[in-house]
Amino acid sequence: MSRIDFQSVCKRYAPNAPLTINNANLTIENGEFCVFVGPSGCGKSTLLRMVAGLEEISSGDLSIGGERVNDLPPARRGVAMVFQSYALYPHMTVRENMGFGLKVFGANAAEIDKKVREAAEILQLTHLLDRLPKQLSGGQRQRVAIGRAIVKEPRVFLFDEPLSNLDAALRVQTRLEIAKLHHAIGTASMIYVTHDQVEAMTLADKIVLLRAGEEVQTKGSVAQIGTPMDLYHRPNSLFVAEFIGSPKMNILPAQFESGDSHRATVRVAGTPFEVAVDAAQLAAGTRVSLGLRPEHMRLADSESSPNSLPAQVVHIEKLGEASLLYLELAESLPTITLKVEGTTQLHTGENVRLQVAPSDLHLFDAGGEALARTVPLPV
Ligand code: ADP
Repeated sequence: MSRIDFQSVCKRYAPNAPLTINNANLTIENGEFCVFVGPSGCGKSTLLRMVAGLEEISSGDLSIGGERVNDLPPARRGVAMVFQSYALYPHMTVRENMGFGLKVFGANAAEIDKKVREAAEILQLTHLLDRLPKQLSGGQRQRVAIGRAIVKEPRVFLFDEPLSNLDAALRVQTRLEIAKLHHAIGTASMIYVTHDQVEAMTLADKIVLLRAGEEVQTKGSVAQIGTPMDLYHRPNSLFVAEFIGSPKMNILPAQFESGDSHRATVRVAGTPFEVAVDAAQLAAGTRVSLGLRPEHMRLADSESSPNSLPAQVVHIEKLGEASLLYLELAESLPTITLKVEGTTQLHTGENVRLQVAPSDLHLFDAGGEALARTVPLPV
């Protein structure tokens, strides 16, 4: 009923303009929570607005519940959208704002009242029903906007950066409420647009990561589709690897020396590193990029420790439960970030040795494509 299918969907805003969306192919299953994420300008809102019927599709097919909707007007699609700006009517109470859409569609007063009460209950707005929007906090206003979507009982909920106007604490709280709402409304699909990878990771069943810039024209809009853990453990490219994860993955230039279908040996500034990837197709001497997540490195015991590099601590950020160490390596290499226990006694200027297990490393070829990892991963 609420399955959404994009087949070879493209969008050009003007006849001779470059493609804003290039060849989007993706499916959102019944009841799935799908997050569109990517850098600013990658076309997340454009894709969402296409589902809402607010944006024309230049080519390709979009279907909802098996029905092609390219030419179906917004009101007949069974979707409800929640905007960043809340878009509440200032002169109407919460109750009137939530019920307005139903009233326009000719629902009777008793039915409207029942649905508004039910939605208010889910969103803990019951005690606020007779207030005006100006008497509410930002978080409460956004809940009213969500309530207005709920009463329409849509088959698809569309959220366009709904938390952007809230402060950090409210963002976390409202994020939790949206996640609970998803569980409460089992059958409706949800598409949620954000540029924030933490929101994407915490909310999504499925993430669609979109790329921006020149590569959209050559490689298409969709960089990778998968569960949050897929994208974290098996990024298919440098772009995905650096986008997912905070602090972001460290990338070091390296040279491929030898390998087979299970492992690779690469050199980073002369130091050998074993990496558990399928390197059967790589030629010796190829330039590659080695990926090290800040949370997957540790401090080595001795100079003879395998897969290790000398480093100097140049800065420490204490976050409480963890500390971030910024480390300088050999001269030609970029500064890297290491995440350690908050109780670390290390200080700026100290010399250390970094170590990473072969199974924790990522390797990317000269074109930025990931080599398949060959060890059992947590998911
Ligand atoms: P995102 O939501 O990922 O930030 P958008 O979908 O808003 O990206 O926009 C994608 C690209 O399309 C941007 O370069 C933007 O400038 C362009 N764009 C968006 N809306 C229009 C429009 N109505 N007319 C022309 N270009 C547009």
